[in-house]
Amino acid sequence: MNLSDKIRTIPDFPKEGIAFKDITTLLKDPNAYEEAIDQIAKRYKDKDIDLVLGVEARGFLIGAPLALKLNKGFVPVRKEGKLPGEILKTEYDLEYGSNILEIHKDAIEKGDKVLIVDDLLATGGTVKATADLVEELGGEIVEIAFLMELGFLDGREKLTDYEVFSLIID
Ligand code: 5GP
Repeated sequence: MNLSDKIRTIPDFPKEGIAFKDITTLLKDPNAYEEAIDQIAKRYKDKDIDLVLGVEARGFLIGAPLALKLNKGFVPVRKEGKLPGEILKTEYDLEYGSNILEIHKDAIEKGDKVLIVDDLLATGGTVKATADLVEELGGEIVEIAFLMELGFLDGREKLTDYEVFSLIID
């Protein structure tokens, strides 16, 4: 199955000039969704990983089923003000303005081997900020995995300290 065909492109979302990759069409097809998770899981089944970490919100849709498949715990990284426990936060720049991501301080223990997951790599800012949170808590980043990467945005250049894997590269 060509998984790339299952992701549709919506022009001018969220603003004019952006061609948004909409993964809801892949999620709606149970065979495509399962195949995507299975293919990512295959890469990690023999790797030494303690935790799978997903970035709100679409990162949960890839990270949580992946964690279950790998029989590892799942850790959510959330937008500001959502997590009830003691949190560590980071602020990072977007094209216009900035964004805040938070993690529970006790979600990662020193030395935990963490696989970071998000749906899509664009400029790399979101996942770089996430990696900073993991490292501040003493976690070791095994790899960063995406369902899809927009290669032309060179997001990997922000992530040169890490192993990066994308199932689909556009
Ligand atoms: P970055 O920080 O790499 O520039 O942007 C990636 C983040 O924004 C990811 O969390 C991803 O969910 C979201 N994102 C940016 N562009 C797109 C897109 O075209 N499609 C989807 N599904 N997510 C996007």
